[in-house]
Amino acid sequence: MSVLETRPPQFTADEVAGIAAELFGIEGTAVDLGSERDQTFLIDDGAGGAVLKISNTGEDPAVLDLEHEAIAHIARVDPELPVARPLGEPATFGGHHVRLFERRHGHVGGNRLDDSAVFAYAATHARMNLALRSFFHPAAGRELLWDMAHTLKLRSLLDAIGDTHRRELVARVIDRFDARVAPRWAQLRAQVVHGDLSLDNVLLDERDRVAGIVDFGDCSYTAQAADFAIALASLLRGRPAGDVFRVARIAVDGYASRLPFEPVELELLADLVAARFAAIVAISSWRVRRYPENAAYIQSWDDDSWALLELFDELGPDTVAAGLGAPRPAVPTRELAQRRSAALGALLTPLTYAEPVHLVRGEGVWLYDAAGNRLLDAYNNVPVVGHCHPRVTEAVVRQTRTLNTHARYLYEPLVELAERLLATMPPEAGFDTVMLVNSGSEANDVAWRIATAATGNGGAVVTEHAYHGVTDAIAALSPEEWPDGFRPEHVTRIPPLGLDAKLPAIAATFLDCALTSDGIFTPPPEEVAALVRRTHEAGGLFVADEVQAGYGRIGGQLWSFAQLGITPDVVTLGKPMGNGYPVAAVITRRDVVERFPFAGRTFSTFGGNPVAAAAALAVLDVIDDERLVEHAGAVGARLIDRLRELEIGDVRGSGLLVGVELADAALAGAVVDRLRSAGILIGRTGPRENVLKIRPPLVFSDEHADMLVRALDDRGR
Ligand code: PMP
Repeated sequence: MSVLETRPPQFTADEVAGIAAELFGIEGTAVDLGSERDQTFLIDDGAGGAVLKISNTGEDPAVLDLEHEAIAHIARVDPELPVARPLGEPATFGGHHVRLFERRHGHVGGNRLDDSAVFAYAATHARMNLALRSFFHPAAGRELLWDMAHTLKLRSLLDAIGDTHRRELVARVIDRFDARVAPRWAQLRAQVVHGDLSLDNVLLDERDRVAGIVDFGDCSYTAQAADFAIALASLLRGRPAGDVFRVARIAVDGYASRLPFEPVELELLADLVAARFAAIVAISSWRVRRYPENAAYIQSWDDDSWALLELFDELGPDTVAAGLGAPRPAVPTRELAQRRSAALGALLTPLTYAEPVHLVRGEGVWLYDAAGNRLLDAYNNVPVVGHCHPRVTEAVVRQTRTLNTHARYLYEPLVELAERLLATMPPEAGFDTVMLVNSGSEANDVAWRIATAATGNGGAVVTEHAYHGVTDAIAALSPEEWPDGFRPEHVTRIPPLGLDAKLPAIAATFLDCALTSDGIFTPPPEEVAALVRRTHEAGGLFVADEVQAGYGRIGGQLWSFAQLGITPDVVTLGKPMGNGYPVAAVITRRDVVERFPFAGRTFSTFGGNPVAAAAALAVLDVIDDERLVEHAGAVGARLIDRLRELEIGDVRGSGLLVGVELADAALAGAVVDRLRSAGILIGRTGPRENVLKIRPPLVFSDEHADMLVRALDDRGR
């Protein structure tokens, strides 16, 4: 605390002009710029001018070197950042260190930057921290009361706050810091920072953009979020209460536009901002007692700081945190379920399981509920490479930060994805046409439109209990969801086994080669080949719907139709394609599309946008790198064997798409709910809803399979 306790230097303007001339050879009048513990003067030489800084005798020369080197580092790494650079070498005068800096033009602060200036200010700040993150200096570990790492030391200054109510308010801020921030301080990203990028330490141009950054006197190694909180506190000062949080969020956006926050930083930001205001009022109360003659300068920020401290206190720390963008505490499950039905109405399908699953997080094969329980996901195929896989997550985030647009512009991910998908298809299919869309339903809808136009026919063939999607045309091809009495005349249904039936003239047969919604069957390849032949004889196209069974689900091959050795005319992809990011595809041949009058007029705004394409590319990469197709085959084969040993019902399927047929729907429902209570998620399927549906992310391993089998084994019960 020595620098704060030492009396600042007391040179007059004339003396300072003399010092500038003697040490740096610059002649001009000296104008006091005001400073807390140093003296800072503008030396106006009638030309560019310069800024002379005479340091407090208590200042450690190593710290001055830290400032000097930090500025030099920034100037090297990001030369466009308008830091005031040192001129000449530091000198001494009468025991004081004296430095000359370039003069930056602009006006000081004011507290009403408009929104775009707030955003730009915070973005500049982030740039500075980016430039400083590779900087090291042994003096950066110095102890500075302004550094929020030392917030708890403010307690010793509380007595200086005369007003009881205010003293208690600051004590509450410090207590909250003690309880919430101190235990997590070491989790915050730290580096050397400016330490006081407040509006008083920057010069602004006529549009209020940062044109000069001065005074590295508080430079130290500390939490980056604390450094941002200091700037944010300054940006919020003097704002009307109704505008504080809106402006704060814009500042957060500005900083994040260059340097995204980590979750813990956002969680603690409000407490850090409050700690900054607490430091301002506590330190100033204490200093005013020592230097009453400097009271006006020392207290210049106090009123605004008190106003915001009082506002924060009135709102309560959780509201303040949420106002700054921190995640809100979880809504209780029952309340959430009620709000869900109130807001969503009756259109959407109901929640799964008697005891609803309220999820907050996923990782690999695990889902975490709001109560903190871990659930083994043996049901969801969309997160094919595991929930929140870092490769996919990062691909999405990086691409989102860089560019997201639509397919009428040229960008690489879409083209690369189309090429990669085509390369996975068997050459004999002759596929050369890819259309990216947003859902399996949309993919099938496009396929259906192509098929009706290309064939001139209107009929369709699907399996008895098939599901292909939700659009008007495709709902008609999805008997699984047909309401009572709904029997579209153009649709012929065939049994899931015995596919070799004679067909009427049709536009298309749609087949999920794993017959998932029919109850999970592995059809004999020759039957499916016969169905393809019959489809062609009936004038139709054969559409392999890989939305469910594709992406290595059944092991052995990426695509289930390829496993069966058939050659479809159209392939549709979806669900796992982006590991949860909406992306789907239609793949076919030019000669098919040429007969479609809407060819060249088909477009889907989000279809294959750069982010969707980046997600889909990442999924393909992970499937390759983690050898998930082989993995699914091996783990699935072992799982099927173990399930058969249980002798609880007919076990079917292949890879990690497994069905266990139980006696009836009631039993299957009870088993599904029993497993859910045991922390394992499965589903059921089939026309009688009596087939357990096991369809986990492909990263499901033997260990997970064993957990599932043990839970299903009711013999020991
Ligand atoms: N086809 C199949 C085989 C499916 O399983 C599904 C979804 N369950 C769809 C199409 C429809 O996909 P989406 O829900 O993405 O529209």
